[in-house]
Amino acid sequence: MSTGNAGSRRVVIVGIPGVGKSTVVNRVVEKLRSKSVLHKVVNYGSVMMEQASRLPDLKSRDDMRRLSVDAQRKLQIYAANEISRLRDQIVIVDTHLFISTAEGFWPGMPLDVLQALKPTNLVLIVASPEEILKRRQNDVSRARDKATREVLEMELSAANTLLFASSMVCGCPALVISNPEGSADIAAEKIINAVLPG
Ligand code: ATP
Ligand code: AMP
Ligand code: MG
Repeated sequence: MSTGNAGSRRVVIVGIPGVGKSTVVNRVVEKLRSKSVLHKVVNYGSVMMEQASRLPDLKSRDDMRRLSVDAQRKLQIYAANEISRLRDQIVIVDTHLFISTAEGFWPGMPLDVLQALKPTNLVLIVASPEEILKRRQNDVSRARDKATREVLEMELSAANTLLFASSMVCGCPALVISNPEGSADIAAEKIINAVLPG
């Protein structure tokens, strides 16, 4: 059985909406650039949007999770195929373990998606329900779902469960990184130190 290219990394960064994945990933990118480490960053939702933006009535990335699950699944498979083609030594993927759809929580990384992404490392970003609530409310650039503390606790618990289930399927390590208020830089540094070679 192949174990992939020695030293290559496919780091999949996950977490519930508004926890700060993209903020932390941006900090990781800044740090890698400053060290001249070659890498590729891909936001799974942005790849889905390449196709979804052709759909009538779809105005923003936050409308995708309101499509039928069938339609989302087609976009999900498209993105998995695109990302599976990347051959960079370090690939960082910003995505979700599950999507809150009208029909309930739906997996962002079912088996075929995990097989396409081939993560070498899974990283779950977490924060307190209070911090996430505040981030969702204050970020006017997005149309995130309104939530209560109870809903966020359930989402954090679902993320934790799916993280370890995915880790078992891939046989790769799962790292939980907390992203407290004002500390995205520290979270990024921890990720680099833990999962990137050198
Ligand atoms: P989504 O899944 O919806 O894409 P996300 O997990 O990528 O969400 P971000 O967009 O990175 O979340 O962050 C949500 C909001 O929280 C943004 O306004 C961002 O500036 C803020 N934020 C992220 N991390 C921190 C932090 N450590 N301290 C303070 N604010 C933060
Ligand atoms: P994001 O900016 O990370 O919130 O991504 C935008 C949207 O893309 C999400 O709200 C989801 O609708 C969709 N998305 C991202 N990753 C996945 C995934 N792995 N599976 C299905 N949909 C996803
Ligand atoms: Mg994001």
